Amino acid sequence: MISLFNKSEVINNIKKLSFRAKKTFGQNFLVDYNICKKIVSSVSEKFNDTVIEIGPGFGILTSMLAKNFRQVLSIEIDKKLFDFVSEKFSNYKNIKFINQDALKINIEDLVFNYLDNSKNIVLCANLPYSITTPILTKFLKSDLINYITVMVQKEAAERITASLGSRGCGAISYFVRYYSNPKINFLVSKNCFFPVPKVDSAVISFDKIKRQNLTDETVLLKVIKSAFEKRRKNILNSLSSGLGLEKNFILEILKKCNLDKNLRAENLTLENFVSVSEYLK
Ligand code: SAM
Repeated sequence: MISLFNKSEVINNIKKLSFRAKKTFGQNFLVDYNICKKIVSSVSEKFNDTVIEIGPGFGILTSMLAKNFRQVLSIEIDKKLFDFVSEKFSNYKNIKFINQDALKINIEDLVFNYLDNSKNIVLCANLPYSITTPILTKFLKSDLINYITVMVQKEAAERITASLGSRGCGAISYFVRYYSNPKINFLVSKNCFFPVPKVDSAVISFDKIKRQNLTDETVLLKVIKSAFEKRRKNILNSLSSGLGLEKNFILEILKKCNLDKNLRAENLTLENFVSVSEYLK
């Protein structure tokens, strides 16, 4: 059985299992127990009822989540890892594993079918790089999720948390702020993983914002994405080409929102994007 407490032991055990890490599933496993502890305690100081984890891998984070939360639901796409953790944690009555693609889950169904009287649901995960944006979008949008703490690549973390209007910001920085206040908690060296990835990581958290009058999120997301796709162009041109709409039409909307057509994406505030989306809707 794999030990979760000592770095070289974890690495040796992973090797012994002859497990071939799949790049497509972002399988760089956390092998540093102290980092794991730091991630979980940063969440469990605030919440301790229900946590959803994506990608338990060999279960380093899962076991600690189970000690700090009343119930844990953990979703793993890889059948081999799913079988491994299901057996390894079969004595833990407060963990449920499901073998699914987290991108395809419906959060409402999941909560209804697998969780019991959950309060203040949290997402906590060491996310595979390739699904960072779609997973964050899905969980930020859901009213059922109260708080998110995830480990992502350092660059992605910097982009996500960049101040709006700064050079480093992008569509994702705006979109996440519609739903939350994001912040980088701490950085994690690439040497804390096995196999060692090319880049360092960061742990970020999102305090959800409860909005009273939600705009059409699909439209908002499209507007923000179009504006940033060609961020060197002015907002009139980028929105017109990105949304496939006549320039005159976009110009009318910009006028109604009191926005100059020559502004660029990063000159707009989140509220500006919301009002453009409202008119487009
Ligand atoms: N939590 C473990 C850790 O910290 O060592 C593993 C983290 S590893 C970065 C990412 C995990 O997510 C892997 O176990 C991988 O198989 C799983 N995974 C990748 N894509 C997934 C998806 N679409 N749905 C669910 N799990 C996924």
